[in-house]
Amino acid sequence: MSLSPSAQPEVTSQQAVSVTQTSCCVVGGGPAGVMLSLLLARRGVPVTLLEMHKDFDREFRGDTVHPSTMEVLDQIGLADAVHEIPHGKISGPTIRFANGPFRPFDLSRLKTRFPYILMIPQSRFLEFLSGEAAKYPQFRLLMHAQVQRLIEEDGVVRGVRYLGPDGLHEVRAPLTVAADGRFSLLRRLAGIEPMKTSTPMDVLWFRLPKLPTDPEVASGLLGGIGGGRVFIVLDRYDYWQAGLVFPKGIYQQLRAQGVESVRQSIVEIDPRFSKNAESLTDWQQLTLLSVESSRCPVWHKPGLLLIGDAAHVMSPIGGVGINYAIQDAVVAANVLANPLKSGNISEADLAEVQRQREWPTRVIQGMQSIMQNRLLAGALSSQLAPKVPWQMRLFVRIPILRDLPTRLIAFGARHVHLKES
Ligand SMILES: Cc1cc2nc3c(=O)[nH]c(=O)nc-3n(C[C@H](O)[C@H](O)[C@H](O)COP(=O)(O)OP(=O)(O)OC[C@H]3O[C@@H](n4cnc5c(N)ncnc54)[C@H](O)[C@@H]3O)c2cc1C
Repeated sequence: MSLSPSAQPEVTSQQAVSVTQTSCCVVGGGPAGVMLSLLLARRGVPVTLLEMHKDFDREFRGDTVHPSTMEVLDQIGLADAVHEIPHGKISGPTIRFANGPFRPFDLSRLKTRFPYILMIPQSRFLEFLSGEAAKYPQFRLLMHAQVQRLIEEDGVVRGVRYLGPDGLHEVRAPLTVAADGRFSLLRRLAGIEPMKTSTPMDVLWFRLPKLPTDPEVASGLLGGIGGGRVFIVLDRYDYWQAGLVFPKGIYQQLRAQGVESVRQSIVEIDPRFSKNAESLTDWQQLTLLSVESSRCPVWHKPGLLLIGDAAHVMSPIGGVGINYAIQDAVVAANVLANPLKSGNISEADLAEVQRQREWPTRVIQGMQSIMQNRLLAGALSSQLAPKVPWQMRLFVRIPILRDLPTRLIAFGARHVHLKES
């Protein structure tokens, strides 16, 4: 898990054990950092990737690989190999309203080789990408490497200092990329402040067992709203990954009522999961996650670029965070590979990455914010499941309109392709 702002590592003034030089120092082995490292290494750019954990195995980071990411993997010849990792496929959510089920988007209608969301455990996906990157001699991966500070000289970032199992080290580079996630330490050290783009929410995340009596979930994703809460269920092959979403401020009340209140919410919102909910007997089975979204006004300073959640924290609505992080990586590789190879990287190059990626991020965050507010407002308006507005039902019947949200989820606001030279 990324470091929370209140748990910053201790910064020491000890001498570094070693100093190494590379062309691009990427901090953070999430989707943004691993993909950028792979793309730069295959373009012949020496790159060092630092990840503070000793493996990629972390929960609650999402498992959704969208068509935009699949098309990039296809461009670099990895689409078939990624399908060999055990996976599920979903085409879109089915949300239960009082006046019937509703599908806000349906990827199966898309004209692409990959008209679905591939559900792959993120750890397996990252292992796969880093394994591919390791085939290039320009790539160096440092696990268990916790970056503690930026090396800055004359106002320019020249690399980072990190703590490894054997002490402090330095990696120096003309470009450092902060791909260190939503609690980005590098962002804070660079003095860049993100702005909130939606009201924060809380999610209780838990597993439910699969039962022979379970409903058929052809789309792989179900949702329901009511009683001030949103209940979501994701098909994870041998269990259901479930979440109960609610506005900030009511967690303490729920906690005081105990796990019974969570079971009760499930029964009220989607009684088909009543039996599964009986497996929830202890609050320890639930994990509380805070969901927010924000965006930095600037994504760069001399020698430093922010990408992925470090530049814009994405709400889980629409499951686009991983894919947006990967799109940032693709654009960064497109714009920066040549300047990095020639050793001529300028701040204008970094600004170009922000220019190409900021407006698609604004569009999707705006949409997430509207959906989030509508969902929670709808949920709060009644103790029973609210009705889907007739305008939305009409919208999805008009072909030219109904495919807009689908395309936005599948490819983002700007369809990104990899440039090969
Ligand atoms: C509850 C929840 C559910 C979500 N579900 C989905 C979903 O279903 N689909 C989806 O697409 N998105 C989902 N998201 C969003 C998604 O997780 C992020 O948008 C995405 O992971 C961003 O990728 P990233 O590479 O920018 O950052 P991250 O995935 O956060 O990776 C950052 C990496 O940096 C490392 N790191 C941090 N600090 C340091 C340091 N100092 N030194 C070295 N390494 C460091 C971390 O260990 C981590 O591996 C969800 C988010 C939340 C909160």
